[in-house]
Amino acid sequence: MSKEVKPVSVPMHPLGGGAEVTSEQEPLCVFGTGDLGRSLGQRLLQTGYKVVYGSRRPLGCGPLPHGAQVMSYADAAQWASVIFVCIHREHYGFMEKLTSQLKGKVLVDVSNNPELNLYPEANAAYLQRLLPGSRVVKAFNTLSAWSLQSGPSDACRQVYVCGNSTEAKQTVGDVATKMGLTVLDRGSLSAAQELEDFPLQLFPEWRLPLQIAVGLTAFFFFYLLTRDVIYAYVDQGKDISFRIMVSLANKVFPIVSLIMLSLCYLPGVLAAFLQLYRGTKYRRFPDWLDRWMLCRKQLGLLALAFAFLHVLYTLLIPIRYYVRFKGWEYVIKQIKENQTTTFDTTVAWRTDSYYSVGILGFGLYVLLGITSLPSVSNALSWREFSYVQSKLGHVTLFLCTLHTFLFGWDKFLRPSTYKWYTPPGYMLSLVVPSVVLALKLLLLLPCVDRSVTRIRRGWERTEPDEEKTLLT
Ligand code: NAP
Repeated sequence: MSKEVKPVSVPMHPLGGGAEVTSEQEPLCVFGTGDLGRSLGQRLLQTGYKVVYGSRRPLGCGPLPHGAQVMSYADAAQWASVIFVCIHREHYGFMEKLTSQLKGKVLVDVSNNPELNLYPEANAAYLQRLLPGSRVVKAFNTLSAWSLQSGPSDACRQVYVCGNSTEAKQTVGDVATKMGLTVLDRGSLSAAQELEDFPLQLFPEWRLPLQIAVGLTAFFFFYLLTRDVIYAYVDQGKDISFRIMVSLANKVFPIVSLIMLSLCYLPGVLAAFLQLYRGTKYRRFPDWLDRWMLCRKQLGLLALAFAFLHVLYTLLIPIRYYVRFKGWEYVIKQIKENQTTTFDTTVAWRTDSYYSVGILGFGLYVLLGITSLPSVSNALSWREFSYVQSKLGHVTLFLCTLHTFLFGWDKFLRPSTYKWYTPPGYMLSLVVPSVVLALKLLLLLPCVDRSVTRIRRGWERTEPDEEKTLLT
C-alpha cells in the first residue's frame, strides 16, 4: 500500500522555486536569510533535508538556494522542530514574541561576537533566557559561510556542540553527521562562551613561539651588526655594510634556529627534574611550564623554518660576488708572489665534518617537522611518535650543536674573536643547547632514569611525616 503524501498549503517563494513542504518529511528551519543562513540551507538541501526559511521579508529577501521555501518567522517556526538561528545576537529580541511557536523546539544558536567579552553572558545562554520553553543548542558557530559553501576543509570539519538537553544535542549532532561533519560534544550550555570565543582566537598557540623568534632575531641581528659591521667601520674604517644582506642574515638564522630547537627540549628536561624533586607526577606544573610545553610543536616548526633559510643562504655562497672576488684576489696574489699553499688535512677534516654533521642534522630536523604534521602523526602510534619526537629530536639537537661546535673549532682561542670583549654569536647560541644536552645526559644515567620512570608510572615519594599522618 502506498502512503498518501498530502501537500501542505504553504505559499511558494517566487525565488526559492523549489518543492513544496509535504507532510512526509519534516523540514529543518533556518531563521535569517543572510550569508550563513543561505550557505547552511544550501548544505542542508544538498544533504537531503527540506529547508524552510524564516525571514522578515519573505517576498523580498534575495535569492535563496534552489528547493528552499521562505515564509515569515512565525510561519516557518511551525514547520520544524529544529530551527537554526542564523541571526546576530543584537536582533534576538523579536523571538520573544514567538514564544508559543518556539516552545519545546530545538534552537541551534550559531552566533559569534565581533570581539571577546562583549556581553556578560554567552549568546546561547541569552537566547535560552529569552525562550526558557525552548531547548537551545550551541553549534556550527566555528564554521564559516564560505567553508559551508565550498565544502569544508579538514580544519572546518569539526562542529562543537553544547547544550543542556542531551536529546536536543543528539538531534543537532545527527544533522551535522549527515552533513559529513565531525561532532565534538563540549557538554552543557555553560560551555557556550568558550565555543563563542573559538573563532576570535588568532593562532593562540603560535603567539609565544613567534614572540620568541622575533625577539631572538632582533637581538642577534643588532648584536652581530654591532660586532661585525659597526666594529669594522669604527676600528678599521672599513664599510662592509653590504654583508648585512647575506652574511649577517646567514649568521642570525642558524643561531635562532638552534636556540629555538633547544627551547623545544628544555621544558621536557625541566619537567623531569621537577618531578624528581617533588617525587610525584601528580602535582601540576607551574603555568609557565605548561604553556611552554604546549607550544613546543610551534617552536620546532619555526626553528625548522629558520634552518631552511640557513640552508638556502648557504647554498648561494659560491655565487656571491664578494666570495668570487675574494677567491680570485687570493689566487692572483699567490701567482704574483709565486706562492703555493699546502693542503691542510686537519682543515679538510674539520670542514667536511662540519658540513656532513650539518646535513645529517638538517635531515633529521626535516623528519621531525614532517612527523609533526597531523596527517603523519595520526598514522603513528604514541610510541612511534614519542620515539621520533623525543629520541630523534635529541639526536637532531646533538648533531646541530656539534655542527656549531665544529664551525667554531679553535676560534675561541684567538683574542681577535672577542671584538669589543664580546663573544661571537655562535658561541652564545651554544649555551642553551649545551645545557639541555648536559641535563638530558644526566637524566639518562641509569639511577636517575629509573627514578623518573618509576615516578611516571605512578610511584610517589611520600614524606615520612605525611606517611605517619596517613597511617594514624
Ligand atoms: P547576515 O548576513 O547579516 O544575516 C543576518 C540575518 O538576520 C539577516 O539576513 C536577516 O534575515 C536576519 N535578521 C533578523 N532580524 C534582523 C534585524 N532586526 N536586523 C537585521 N537582520 C535581521 O549575518 P550572517 O553572516 O548570516 O550571520 C548570522 C549569524 O551567524 C550571526 O550570529 C553570526 O555571528 C553567525 N555566524 C556567521 C558566520 C559567517 O560566516 N557569516 C559564521 C559563523 C557564525 P532576514 O532579512 O531574512 O530576516
